[in-house]
Amino acid sequence: MSVVYRDGFMRGLKPDDKVSIDEWAENNRILPTKSSSEPGAWRNDRTPYLREIMWEMSPHSATEQVKVIKGTQLGFTEVGLNTILAYMDLYPCPILMVMPVETLAKKFSNAKLTPSIKAIPHLNKKIKNAKSIDDGGGTFEKDFDGGMFSLGWSYSASAFASFSAKVVVLDDVDRFPDDVEDEGDPLELGKNRADAFAGRKIYINSTPTTKDASKIEREFEDSDQREYFMPCPHCTPKEHALQHRGNMIRFTIDAFRYEKDSSGAIVGDPYMVCGHCGGIIDEHEKSWMMSAASGAKWIPLNPGHIHRGYKLNSFYSPLGWLGWKNIAQEHVKAHKAMKRGNNKLLKKFMNTRLAETFEEEIEKVDDDVLMEHVETYEAQVPEGVLVLTAGIDTQDDRLEIEVVGWGHLDESWSIDYRVFHGDTRGKEVWSRLDEYLFHTRFKRKDGSEMMVHTSCLDTGGHRTKESYAFALTRFLRRLYAIKGAKPVDAPIIPRKPTRKDRKKPPLFNIGVNKIKDVIYDYMMTDEKGAGYMHFPDLPQYDKGYFKQLTAEKREKSGRWVKFRERNEALDVRVYAYAALHLSGMDLNIIKERGPVVVASTDTAGVATGTTKKRRRRIISSGVRR
Ligand SMILES: [Zn+2]
Repeated sequence: MSVVYRDGFMRGLKPDDKVSIDEWAENNRILPTKSSSEPGAWRNDRTPYLREIMWEMSPHSATEQVKVIKGTQLGFTEVGLNTILAYMDLYPCPILMVMPVETLAKKFSNAKLTPSIKAIPHLNKKIKNAKSIDDGGGTFEKDFDGGMFSLGWSYSASAFASFSAKVVVLDDVDRFPDDVEDEGDPLELGKNRADAFAGRKIYINSTPTTKDASKIEREFEDSDQREYFMPCPHCTPKEHALQHRGNMIRFTIDAFRYEKDSSGAIVGDPYMVCGHCGGIIDEHEKSWMMSAASGAKWIPLNPGHIHRGYKLNSFYSPLGWLGWKNIAQEHVKAHKAMKRGNNKLLKKFMNTRLAETFEEEIEKVDDDVLMEHVETYEAQVPEGVLVLTAGIDTQDDRLEIEVVGWGHLDESWSIDYRVFHGDTRGKEVWSRLDEYLFHTRFKRKDGSEMMVHTSCLDTGGHRTKESYAFALTRFLRRLYAIKGAKPVDAPIIPRKPTRKDRKKPPLFNIGVNKIKDVIYDYMMTDEKGAGYMHFPDLPQYDKGYFKQLTAEKREKSGRWVKFRERNEALDVRVYAYAALHLSGMDLNIIKERGPVVVASTDTAGVATGTTKKRRRRIISSGVRR
């Protein structure tokens, strides 16, 4: 093994001392101009929290697995890169890196790895041409004296099959699939590649994603769970910081404060509050606080575990990278979006800034909170309703039906809920349904009337024969036979219905699970407008109704399952939503023109035809002018 020692590098090290990766980086690493925000020589004091992690990845540490759960803009990608380069240079061996997808791997190689090697002339000399003909350019393979580097991606099983490595870097593992080409979990496959080596080193790193699905959270839990603690500049006199280590603090969202104006813009500079003394900590203090000189250090919260785990949020991003003001602004935006029922920004904020997983709380809709959506309508059908649909659930001893009014952007108004009791093997209960569905007129404030435009009838219960018979003759009145599709990710409505024979109606397999995702999203919407669900103050919409509506929760697999016995209210709402999709109504277009009301001359119900041409004509004749 040839180790290149140079002037100023030794700094008192005996020749048999091993050089750690952080030391190697300080003395050799040049950040390439193109791909670095701060090009030039690597400085450990810029990101002091990375030092220990690089030290643990060094040969003289007995640690085999280092796991990092992190926010963005903290420099962790460079830890993997410094590790690869230092091993190539000082401790040559087989090295494997796995990234989520090929495009990322290619970009990493071309923009980061290759320029970083070229920037270190003595290392560059050690790199030979790649052996593989397929990779003559050396994008995914690099041969060097005493070892080889291979770069793969998580969606290709070949990344794991062909290569054993002493050093394995698994980057951004929360974007890895759960299974790669039926070979298993790529994260585990990646770890296994190092099994044959004593002194193996495995670096696993990622921003987290969704709670319970996050791979990096699972890995971090299986570690000693270190967090970065610093002295408070108020509690701890700077000149005595190293001796006076009582009150160590972390940067957290709970300690973070900012002010905003009515438009949501951040006013002044955000700050942290010390949990011990209540002192205000300005952002510029963080350089000193994070530095080794202050006594800042990683403290394990699960001490004694054999694997090292590190967790760091983006509040620690060095001055000049990602500022607290930016983080505050993102926080405001995320909460604004959340109030509108969109939790995507908050999830992103929690994942990429706080390094926290996001718990989808939609399975926890509180029936009491939803009950607060009950209001007195100004008419049976409120102004915002553009079209009415219905969902019908078939039980052995009754039919349950809900009529729902839909407005712009899926804002909805429950209009009526009926239960028709009676043996559903008999005819009587079905004729009452027929009467209700096709002959009931619902009044608007201006005196105009609406009827149910499209309805969906569940045929998946015990009364398949009877419900088929009912649906067969009413297809042209847009009553559709449906059945819940089994797959979790089945589309809301199928491209076309299935039909076995002419004695049965066309059957629509609807994506009930997907629809429940949507509806639970809407239940969480607290602000009137897109997605908001309105309920009338009718006796049917009582506590029992809301218990049923919120009777299901989503499992880890993404599948909705009921945790209360009765869930018909949810079922009929799901079918009414499927009916909206099957109606072919584009509510954005209808909004421009007004609701679908019944023409005063139309006594037989709105529509009798199903061809597009016919439907369009009827709609236009029914539209208010
Ligand atoms: Zn303090």
